[in-house]
Amino acid sequence: ASGYTLLRDPHHNKGLGFTERERDSHYLRGLLPPAVSTQELQVKKLMQSIRSYEVSLHKYVAMMELKERNERLFYKLLIDNVEELLPIVYTPTVGEACQKYGCIFKRPQGLFISLKEKGKILEVLKNWPERSIQVIVVTDGERILGLGDLGCQGMGIPVGKLALYTALGGVRPSACLPITIDVGTNNQKLLDDEFYIGLRQKRATGKEYYDLLEEFMSAVKQKYGEKVLVQFEDFANHNAFELLAKYKTTHLVFNDDIQGTASVVLAGLVASLKLLGGSLADHTFLFFGAGEAGTGIAELIALEISTKTNVPVEEARKKIWLVDSKGLIVSSRKESLQHFKKPWAHEHEPLSTLLDAVKVIKPSVLIGTSGVGQTFTQDVVEAMAAINERPLIMALSNPTSQAECTAEQAYTWTEGRAIFSSGSPFDPYEYNGKSFIPGQANNAYIFPGLGFGLVISAEALASQVMQEHYDKGMIYPPLTNIRKISAHIAANVAAKAYELGLATRLPRPADLVKYAESCMYTPNYRSYR
Ligand code: NAP
Ligand code: MN
Repeated sequence: ASGYTLLRDPHHNKGLGFTERERDSHYLRGLLPPAVSTQELQVKKLMQSIRSYEVSLHKYVAMMELKERNERLFYKLLIDNVEELLPIVYTPTVGEACQKYGCIFKRPQGLFISLKEKGKILEVLKNWPERSIQVIVVTDGERILGLGDLGCQGMGIPVGKLALYTALGGVRPSACLPITIDVGTNNQKLLDDEFYIGLRQKRATGKEYYDLLEEFMSAVKQKYGEKVLVQFEDFANHNAFELLAKYKTTHLVFNDDIQGTASVVLAGLVASLKLLGGSLADHTFLFFGAGEAGTGIAELIALEISTKTNVPVEEARKKIWLVDSKGLIVSSRKESLQHFKKPWAHEHEPLSTLLDAVKVIKPSVLIGTSGVGQTFTQDVVEAMAAINERPLIMALSNPTSQAECTAEQAYTWTEGRAIFSSGSPFDPYEYNGKSFIPGQANNAYIFPGLGFGLVISAEALASQVMQEHYDKGMIYPPLTNIRKISAHIAANVAAKAYELGLATRLPRPADLVKYAESCMYTPNYRSYR
């Protein structure tokens, strides 16, 4: 191949990183300026340039351009600067990128499968250049973060999630496939936008929708085999639960909003017990928002309590309460409830506001999964602080604009007593001379290292929180160590697989963490002969 082609192939391009010998042997002489740069120096230069942009979206665009130019350098940057760049390639900036995807879209970074491709999905998959795919992240764009229906522009989410599969979990980039299924959008603003990149029609529903998904799911299995992992991401809840139930026996499927979120929140709760004392069963939980995230988390908490204390899960559910847009979910509403809310319809008088629910239920843990910003008002947070010495408050909704409250509000309204974490990152906050670092309760901790055990993963993460973090009020370990954490999670999952006799890699590696690390993708340049 020519040197010119090599420079334009993001999988192989190293830019100034090509050595003198490589420039000779790969017809690169003259195509590059004379300087030869180390990868470290390239990282330094790019970080300087990215830091010079004031607008986060410009940093996002710069990162995506780098990904399309020099893939290894993109991952090197992301891995070496994870705390700084995660808020750019992931929440909150990725949300804004999706809202403006029509304008910033330059090259397709994943597959678009729309109603136009009905009957031809297998052929469409064949157009993707990579053959051996291990992970697919797919969205239909109907509930992108807390931003609602963004139609075809939801593509930013699978692209961002899969970048984390590689950067945080070590999955090869070529094994990752982002997909957006476009069945239309009900977002009138997009339908009226002349630059909208998707199908210009209202969302297909019912049989037409499920037929397209059925064709997609069988094509995927036919093309990539039984073991390909399909991660459903940001589907609206009326489809999400149904798709998961429908394909869980025939495919390796995972819904990040329901299952990944549940695991990361359970990890935070288990870790908080060190600060709060007692066990999960001693706590009372109140959720604001009873959709995918809320009911998914609630069910995993109930499962964990039931396993740990040997009580039936129905019993364990009784200390978990949920509020939706109509108020506290109670048994008198049972008939009109969506099926995923029914297990949570306890015997109680109706309460219409969150504040009333906090005052009456007296939760020790308040979890926001509503997608609506600024709903943990001062009244609500103060009520939590009046009931609890150390109120545990999680504002999980993304992006930052939709967070139920900010870190600053949580700390000041509780006089520094809150244990706070949030779905999108907040800066450390100083209150009364003490610095608090809000944990980032985001499923990014879980899905990259996911194997097959969600509960196993949660316990592994909780065990990584050290005394020094607790001292700062952190209930999640710092993201700086995320690759180590991923290796630990994978090792824990693998250990379980060996224990159950399910592992196929024999003999068992002596050190599973080391072995996991040795399997991870690294972006360091290889030398070409
Ligand atoms: P969802 O399935 O649509 O559920 C939203 C829930 O919030 C519904 O139960 C809805 O009530 C309720 N709700 C909406 N507006 C409300 C209001 N004004 N007052 C009270 N309740 C209200 O959405 P989801 O998938 O659970 O996601 C919700 C949020 O969680 C999103 O912002 C998302 O970004 C975030 N999330 C975070 C993570 C993370 O890792 N941190 C992971 C997943 C999701 P009805 O049922 O009555 O409509
Ligand atoms: Mn999601």
